Amino acid sequence: MEAFSKMCFVCKKNIANSTYQLNSKVNLPVCNLCKGTDKEKITEDEYLDSLADDLVCGCI
Ligand SMILES: [Zn+2]
Repeated sequence: MEAFSKMCFVCKKNIANSTYQLNSKVNLPVCNLCKGTDKEKITEDEYLDSLADDLVCGCI
């Protein structure tokens, strides 16, 4: 069962086994092309926002 395909969370492309890194904030794989780019940061923020939405209780 090695057919676990990883996807870059920024560009949504499949990542070859070898060349990716894990974004430690969102804990998702990011390819070398997207790593360290502004786009990575933006997508990272969007991702964290969407996670935060689930946690917002609206109790203000
Ligand atoms: Zn990418």
